[in-house]
Amino acid sequence: MTDLHPFIAGLPKAELHVHHVGSASPRIVAELAAHHPDSKVPTDPEALADYFSFTDFAHFIDVYLSVVDLIRTPEDVRLLTFEVARDMARQNVRYAELTITPFSSTRRGIDEKAFMAAIEDARKAAEAEFGTVLRWCFDIPGEAGLEAAEETTRLALDLRPEGLVSFGLGGPEIGVPRPQFKPYFDRAIAAGLHSVPHAGETTGPQTVWDALNELGAERIGHGTSAAQDPALLAHLAERRIPLEVCPTSNLATRAVADIDQHPVREMVAAGVLVTINSDDPPMFGTDLNNEYGVAARLLGLDERGVADLAKNAVEASFLDPAGKARIAGEIDAYTDAWVANH
Ligand SMILES: [Zn+2]
Repeated sequence: MTDLHPFIAGLPKAELHVHHVGSASPRIVAELAAHHPDSKVPTDPEALADYFSFTDFAHFIDVYLSVVDLIRTPEDVRLLTFEVARDMARQNVRYAELTITPFSSTRRGIDEKAFMAAIEDARKAAEAEFGTVLRWCFDIPGEAGLEAAEETTRLALDLRPEGLVSFGLGGPEIGVPRPQFKPYFDRAIAAGLHSVPHAGETTGPQTVWDALNELGAERIGHGTSAAQDPALLAHLAERRIPLEVCPTSNLATRAVADIDQHPVREMVAAGVLVTINSDDPPMFGTDLNNEYGVAARLLGLDERGVADLAKNAVEASFLDPAGKARIAGEIDAYTDAWVANH
């Protein structure tokens, strides 16, 4: 079998499920830590590589929160956002919907207007410098409850930054039923935001049904357990409701026990529009290119098959039709040239 990694590395891509703080690579964390010497986070990238090797999920949460604690000022927010875009551009990501949890920052005392200005400034600078187009999904941290839902909705609707396109819900699913968030999603949808909650990552298919029926989901974050419910897969396929599949994340969080048992095959076989994503890439020791490699192996794809997966993400994005056509055209041109030369 040919090594698809060089092809994947150069392939123009779109990413739909990737978290802001969760994208902080050791390089970015080292820079942030250097600004805050009182933090316990190492500033040397080599020591950070060790710091980022997790012993278990609780350790992952500890490390994640220590990175959250490094983002204290609007300048930290700007630096993180711009540098995340740089890491994306290096992987030929042309467009990304970055999931941001503004509640985490405003609750820590960052001024809300300065926060919005920082992400917007980074978005415009990244597009000008790297050509990578960023859009935002503001998500409710489910574990923080309805207070966080109210605050996230207020921030999204009252301060609505230009790049904001969607409204999400993350955090644990066990003990955090989706239907309680319906009033907040209703308000966000009425204001023109797209609904993209996480569902079916760590709980069964009923959570995905709840996300569809109660939260008006237009795409599903993960949806891993949808594969257990053939009627649900058929429904997703018929309505063209995409799944944001993140294979390595599912392994890291034990949502799937073995990568070779990942249900992405069943999803594709049922005709569901599957997109490939990286979730919290440095934290899970991956990046988007690696996720495409994993998916290609699980699905037995060649270059054309991988290019089709990349086009699924473009189709499932909230980019305008001209933007979609532009990136899909880049994917086709790249793939045609590659196939002709190899
Ligand atoms: Zn996620």
